[in-house]
Amino acid sequence: MLIFSRSLLLATALSLPLLGACKDKTQSLPKNEVSLQVETSAKTPPQTSTHPEIKKLADLAFANHYAYDITRDLTTKLGPRQAGSRSEAQARRWALKTMREIGLVKVHNEPFKINGWARGRASAQVIAPYPQPLRLTALGGSVATPRGGITAPVVYFRDYEALLAAPMGSLDGKIAYISGRMKKDIDGKGYGPANRKRRNGASEAARRGAVATLIRSVGTDSHRMPHTGQMRYADGIKKIPIAALSNPDADQLDRIFELTEQNGKEVRIKMVLSTRDLGERPSGNVIGEIRGATKPDEIILIGAHLDSWDEGTGAIDDGAGVGIVLGAAKALIDSGLKPKRTIRVVLFGSEEIGLKGGFAYAKAHRDELDKHVLASESDFGAGRVYGLQPGKYEAVKDFVRAQAPQFAFLGIKAKDGETTGGPDINPLNDAGVPTIRLNQDGTDYFDLHHTPDDTFDKIDPEAMQQNVAAWATLIWLASQADTDFRDNQGE
Ligand code: ZN
Ligand code: ZN
Repeated sequence: MLIFSRSLLLATALSLPLLGACKDKTQSLPKNEVSLQVETSAKTPPQTSTHPEIKKLADLAFANHYAYDITRDLTTKLGPRQAGSRSEAQARRWALKTMREIGLVKVHNEPFKINGWARGRASAQVIAPYPQPLRLTALGGSVATPRGGITAPVVYFRDYEALLAAPMGSLDGKIAYISGRMKKDIDGKGYGPANRKRRNGASEAARRGAVATLIRSVGTDSHRMPHTGQMRYADGIKKIPIAALSNPDADQLDRIFELTEQNGKEVRIKMVLSTRDLGERPSGNVIGEIRGATKPDEIILIGAHLDSWDEGTGAIDDGAGVGIVLGAAKALIDSGLKPKRTIRVVLFGSEEIGLKGGFAYAKAHRDELDKHVLASESDFGAGRVYGLQPGKYEAVKDFVRAQAPQFAFLGIKAKDGETTGGPDINPLNDAGVPTIRLNQDGTDYFDLHHTPDDTFDKIDPEAMQQNVAAWATLIWLASQADTDFRDNQGE
């Protein structure tokens, strides 16, 4: 069968040299890192289940590196897959082929249009009082500077709130610089607050008269890697260019402002961005299913996004998620188990520029949203799963409480709080579709997120296997449960 020949091919072409590479990596590690690794693996749970079906699925998940191998294939052959680009279109073809090889049915692409954008080049220098170059990148959707760049005095803001507190007209002819470091956390909860300056910084600065905006990157690393990400312009406000400085460059600028606060000198920066609006471009969502045996009209949707930013190769965001959900679907098909409900895999397009694929899916399927019984997305890197978290429905909360013990062999516990199921699931969540999430350890996710450093070497193959086992367990239990996930007790 095709599936087997592909697996074999991948095993020969990819896994063998990979295993060699992993071995070399371990051997070349300094002593303390080796002992750390041993300590980690000693803590690893036994990874077997007493539940016969889950044991079968988990054994398949841990028997090979399929998810890791196809993530390698996707990110190596296509590299970055920017929304609306030719490589995103190639990724759709790759996804159609891979879904068919796994054995998914009703495999198809659902096209939609987006507005394309090209990054171009970005450069900036402090002109005065301490001349030096800065490392930065344009934010997605930003307009360009005039060809000769913008040179202007800079006004420092400690954080986004400080900018909001600035009076109208106070930034006339100036560049606004918004600092404020994102905090590191296992669940990335610092991202939302830090992200407001990225999304709204340009328009809020323009409202106050600014001619351009610089922000400290929304990221937790200390490397000279600026983090890109989508911004948006508010209606009726002048569009001004916006770019993100790497954290060390933002630190440097903060130090410069500490000095000038004392000596009263003016900070002037020149910045040049050559972004381009590419107009209408094609994008699409690639969809395939495992048909439910007894409740085929009840859909459990699992997803990830095919597109990435252009700076890295989109390995942790979100090549890994693509590998994980396809790996879980393959494990379920290969197990021979027949889920009662339909498992629908959706690989969304153009997530990075404002969840375009998620909105397009919700719109195209608006007449069957009531058939979607549960939805979730893998879009938080390639770290191990540690939590199972319900969305807003009481029935999903009960399901999590009741089924969490089935995930214990993977080191996964029930997690409090409510999830919207993942970025592309937000529109479904808003439309009333029940959601759930497998929480990954994202402690280091925002070190790499949206930078040139988001590359395949950051992915741990064993963590990918654990993810696949977790997702296979989730879709199996959800497909078999006699639960109406929409049941909201107390209503
Ligand atoms: Zn993502
Ligand atoms: Zn992203």
